[in-house]
Amino acid sequence: MTDFAAIRKEFPILDQEIHGHPLVYLDSAATSQKPQCVIDAESDFFRTINAGVHRGAHELAARSTMAFEEARAKVARLVGANSAEGEEEIVVTSGATAGLNLLATAFGNASLGRGGEAARRFAVKPGDEIVVSKAEHHSVLLPFQELAARTGATLKWFDLDSEGRILSNTADEVITERTKIVAVTHVGNTTGAITDIAPMVKRAHEVGAVVVLDACQSVPHLKIDLHALDVDFAAWSAHKMYGPTGVGFLYGKRDMLEALPPANFGGSMVELAWMDQEAQYMAPPARFEAGTQPVAQVVAAGVAAEWLMNIGMENLEAHERVIAGELLKMGQIDGVRILGPQTNEQRIGTVAFEIDGVHPHDVGQFIDAQGIAIRVGHHCAQPVHRHFGVYASNRASSGIYNSVEDAQALVEALKKVRPFFGVE
Ligand code: PMP
Repeated sequence: MTDFAAIRKEFPILDQEIHGHPLVYLDSAATSQKPQCVIDAESDFFRTINAGVHRGAHELAARSTMAFEEARAKVARLVGANSAEGEEEIVVTSGATAGLNLLATAFGNASLGRGGEAARRFAVKPGDEIVVSKAEHHSVLLPFQELAARTGATLKWFDLDSEGRILSNTADEVITERTKIVAVTHVGNTTGAITDIAPMVKRAHEVGAVVVLDACQSVPHLKIDLHALDVDFAAWSAHKMYGPTGVGFLYGKRDMLEALPPANFGGSMVELAWMDQEAQYMAPPARFEAGTQPVAQVVAAGVAAEWLMNIGMENLEAHERVIAGELLKMGQIDGVRILGPQTNEQRIGTVAFEIDGVHPHDVGQFIDAQGIAIRVGHHCAQPVHRHFGVYASNRASSGIYNSVEDAQALVEALKKVRPFFGVE
């Protein structure tokens, strides 16, 4: 049996009081807290190894490169990707947003004919379609909306059901012979709903479209095998999976990465550069990693991935399912409406809600006064809020360190909100 109480103790930040109450952190969908081993990994790297990677003949540079590549391999193992030399499928980015923009820019470059014949599969032209969903974080919606605007393609989207689930059973109608790209979230950052991506992937591949998965909210909570999911690309951030900020990962099937033209240009990504000839780019992943990399943070993210694998993603999933069940009890409180799946099926412990008659910011402050951290606002996902007929919401989101007591503390506090604000 995994001792989750002991795991919680690995997070030094949680051992403090906020406004005179023990901290209850229920904002992991925004960013997760870091275990001591991740904090140590970053500072150990700076104390003992720090050097640039992939260049320099000195010993520290060699050790740094080895640590960087080992971290890439650990992250690859967490999501079922390849990492053997020459077959790497994980690209280091500065976060999910950067990874998704990298893809949209690279597809745009392919649309201009860059990358030659191999990149034609990514090219988008007027009349083509790019498909997203109404549940997308703006980090998916905006880069692909911009790509559509730049190429003259049409942006289309999957609608949602009344609980905010993406209607993936409409894949055969939404994805057509004109669809070139399908970019969808694996788990909604507002609804917590797990997308049934299989019908989308099947249909997309039937029509020759490329599938991009936003895995930000799935990698930290679910056991994932990207090969089994058969998506072509996936992006996520390290800071939501108990790793540092400033780092993310972009997965691409090896043949996709090999065909994809670069999006960012600079040092450490070319074999040859000339004044009067086009540069010869390196093979992936280096082709997509221009510039000095955040090596310490990548190494620490690798430690986070290993730490998660040692705990076991199945164990984490089962633990958070219990927390989600407790959080969902808020739906029984008078005036509380959950914006997402009401039952504990095909969802994670991210629960957005509104309280009739009380503004989310007032709810957030009232809850914070009791030491409980939740998020309020539109969570960078305005269309899904519009779908529910609200501008903003409150969101409680679980992490590995949360206990049943944490969820109960929130539910008890929520019972007091409407009486406190005098709402009948
Ligand atoms: N997609 C989803 C589903 C997210 O939850 C987030 C983070 N809120 C992002 C994308 C963007 O991640 P980042 O801000 O770390 O780049």
